Amino acid sequence: MAEQDRIDEAKARYQAEREKRLRDDAQDQYSQLTDEFEEFDHDPWVESGFTREPVVEETTAVVVGGGFAGMLLAKGLQERGITDYRIIDKAGDFGGTWYWNRYPGCMCDVESLIYMPLLEETGYTPTMKYAPAAEIFEQCQRIAHQYDLYPHAILHTEIADATWDDDASRWIITTTRADRISAKFLITAGGILHKAKLPAIEGINDFAGRAFHTARWDYGYTGGSPTEPMDHLADKVVGIIGTGATAIQVVPQLAKAAKEVYVFQRTPSPVGARNNGPIEPGWVKAQPPGWQRERMVNFTECVTGGKPEVNLVGDGATRYLWDDTQQAATTPEEQAELDRLDFEVMQAIRDRVEEIVEDPETAEKLKPWYGKHCKRITYHDEYLQSFNLPNVHLVDTEGLGVRRVTEAGPVVDGKEYPLDLLVYASGFEVTTGLVSRLGFDPVGRGGVKLSERWHDGAHTLHGIHTNAFPNLLVCHFIQAAFGLNFNHYLDELTSHLTWIVANAEEHGITTIEATVEAEDEWLALLWQAGKGFGRYSAACTPSFHNSEGARTMAAARNVVHPGNLMRYSEHLERWRDAGDLPGLVVQKADPVDA
Ligand code: NDP
Repeated sequence: MAEQDRIDEAKARYQAEREKRLRDDAQDQYSQLTDEFEEFDHDPWVESGFTREPVVEETTAVVVGGGFAGMLLAKGLQERGITDYRIIDKAGDFGGTWYWNRYPGCMCDVESLIYMPLLEETGYTPTMKYAPAAEIFEQCQRIAHQYDLYPHAILHTEIADATWDDDASRWIITTTRADRISAKFLITAGGILHKAKLPAIEGINDFAGRAFHTARWDYGYTGGSPTEPMDHLADKVVGIIGTGATAIQVVPQLAKAAKEVYVFQRTPSPVGARNNGPIEPGWVKAQPPGWQRERMVNFTECVTGGKPEVNLVGDGATRYLWDDTQQAATTPEEQAELDRLDFEVMQAIRDRVEEIVEDPETAEKLKPWYGKHCKRITYHDEYLQSFNLPNVHLVDTEGLGVRRVTEAGPVVDGKEYPLDLLVYASGFEVTTGLVSRLGFDPVGRGGVKLSERWHDGAHTLHGIHTNAFPNLLVCHFIQAAFGLNFNHYLDELTSHLTWIVANAEEHGITTIEATVEAEDEWLALLWQAGKGFGRYSAACTPSFHNSEGARTMAAARNVVHPGNLMRYSEHLERWRDAGDLPGLVVQKADPVDA
């Protein structure tokens, strides 16, 4: 068949597969881990009965979240001379997603040398090109000790309420442990993988076996630990719902440990070769100053179509994402070339399935039919191979997903699959409303709640500032940027945020607040820049990347700065250089009082 015919055929298949999965309930097809699902949300890593005295104090900044963002913010604040700040986290330690996600096989899928924060500053060399989760979690503690973050930390604690006090020009923050903190700045750095979600499947609570989410792995049930094989599953039948980046890592471990494994698939992930390997001990200390930033920027260029002269990381991501096929084409010929480049990558991924998976019927079901930017491309050298094992069974749901669970187990196409353990690898709230992800609803000027102000999606300048919420700084990627390497993105963003706080302190600024006009201009700029990206994403199979295919204003506002993260950083740099904080209403302290 001629190449153009194969591309056209693939595009028709993409469309058909997308239509199978579109649902009117979009993001509402998921349940949050609250109320009736509270059992799924308990912290397996902390002993119950923890108590402490409430904290009552005034501080310059409260940072919500002690993951990568929270730690980088703390470091940045300290380096800019601001030492009175607090970091509040529900978890019992620093680490964010690496605190919660300790499921078997968990590791980073962006190269450790650029993904693990502050390697240059800590002098730590990761053991592997893709380090295991336990090592990444240890790096978080290394950072927390080196920068003396623990005295600033308020752990095992959730925000109950955050209300702007206009008379005092401060945020009043209360917590579930009776703390009351008055802060000049409130910085929300809750991360993007903070809120686990469950599919709202009929009968989910009827299941009589053990069930948990991957972000709350119960080694008490499975045996083993993040670094040791699971030794209680040899006589157990295990099911796993979901085949995203998490499941790709979990399935091979279950395959080694359990009697039988049933993998319930709605949409297959693209799986490339991982080629993991050791890093020479001491590598980091032998590098010239600035190496980590240079490597991060180079990777970002490679995966966003920047095509630098050298590819320092040289992995699957930099090869598969070398051409940015989401960009807007100016001619039909250019569009045809983008389609061809996209097809080539996805076809290579589909061919890899055929090469590895022995049963042709199973191989066919494991092939992903969508564009290369639609979902995260995953990398693993054991996932597809698992389906050649006699104890691993793919239950393909034809794009419908598991819709019903009984006391015995999931039901698909009328067949019940009795299980001892059901693992939900069903992901996280990434593109839902900020309030849902934060777990509290900040109350701004005049008693307006953030959920009211953002009832139709985010309203921000740079993804950071929002009108009616003075001194609230949002650290997230909605209306901001992303880049595949979240550590690089956070490095850029947190540096900007700490500049904002330090600049206010230095110039006697009491409040900053975005104007509505500045918010609208910023959104218009994002929409204009993201035309190609929007068109591409709208044709994608549904997932959290495109708000599950929702066509709402909130989904339309959930945009990110397209393309290279450095273009977003350049906006921020120009804004800082302008000197007068354009787009913000700035209040200064009364000179008499100052
Ligand atoms: P995802 O949201 O990517 O995957 C959830 C999975 O659950 C999807 O396969 C989804 O199918 C499936 N699903 C949902 N409902 C049903 C249902 N009713 N029946 C069957 N299947 C269902 O979550 P992950 O936890 O896998 O990954 C989230 C993110 O975490 C990644 O994108 C990545 O950013 C990050 N991650 C990073 C890693 C790293 O190494 N750095 C490792 C793991 C995760 P469908 O696709 O059809 O929606």
